[in-house]
Amino acid sequence: MSSRYYRSEKPASGKMRKLKELMLKGDNRICADCSAPDPKWASANIGVFICLKCSDVHRTLGTDISKVLPLTLEEWSESDIDSMFEVGGNTYANSIYEAFLPKGYRKPKPDSSNEERSKFIRSKYESQDFLKPSLRIVSSKISFRTYESSRDLDHKHQPCSSKKTEDTREFIGELKVKVIRGINLAVRDLLTSDPYVILNLGRQKVQTTVKNSNLNPVWNEEFKFTVPQRYGALKLQVYDHDMFSADDIMGEAEVDLQPMITAALAFGDPELLGNMQIGRWFKTNDNALIKDSFINIVDGKVKQEVHLKLQNVERGEIELELEWIPVDE
Ligand code: CA
Repeated sequence: MSSRYYRSEKPASGKMRKLKELMLKGDNRICADCSAPDPKWASANIGVFICLKCSDVHRTLGTDISKVLPLTLEEWSESDIDSMFEVGGNTYANSIYEAFLPKGYRKPKPDSSNEERSKFIRSKYESQDFLKPSLRIVSSKISFRTYESSRDLDHKHQPCSSKKTEDTREFIGELKVKVIRGINLAVRDLLTSDPYVILNLGRQKVQTTVKNSNLNPVWNEEFKFTVPQRYGALKLQVYDHDMFSADDIMGEAEVDLQPMITAALAFGDPELLGNMQIGRWFKTNDNALIKDSFINIVDGKVKQEVHLKLQNVERGEIELELEWIPVDE
């Protein structure tokens, strides 16, 4: 990928703003490698936000594998920002680089030793031990190339590379989830709560920001998951953030992805279809839906609005918007 060889042109202000927005997204507020809060560095070619200690290890990998930049925006070139967006941040990068993290494997923590941190980071990016084996490419210039091969699944206009084998098709697409808002959520502090939402798909996990003292929070935060052939339900949990004690649960819910994915696969390329309804997830006594949830083609995209009643809690609702991004065959 040519964007690995950077020119130092100055980025347009719009791009700088977008980078700042990406930086502030919930999943990018903790280090991709050790989960330390508020990372001040990034690897532009890997596409992750990282803390100071992890950035020191990244630097030892060489810029061929990891190009480390401080998040003081002045130092970013336009192509650095582009490559950061190509990946889209910590959740997406980790869903690839940690896809095959062994069960029970302990990632380093913010206070882990340098040795432990270094061992993990080298395994993750240099030898790529946790990557899907078929995506691993044995050459001196592995990192970005490898990425490209998984990313170009959704780039229609790129010619198919020889790397696009049957293995990459195990990812059947990507799921975008927008956490829109919460309604009438449960009280966990004196009169209010400090809610945030955690979403899980398999081992991929993302988290919204905390909305302080708000029972009707508006998040409008977007996250992306890769969806394997054998996918399960999207799991959602709402928590009340507490400064000095463990966070309290404020309910949970599951989203059945099958109605959307089955309909999307059956109808094929949404860009060739006009606006129409293609499916429906029905409200039943066994699911968390407040009302039937329709799957629609909207301007060439497969979208679904989901209105959930939180379970195992006295009250509260969550609104989501899902989007299915198919793999281009
Ligand atoms: Ca609280």
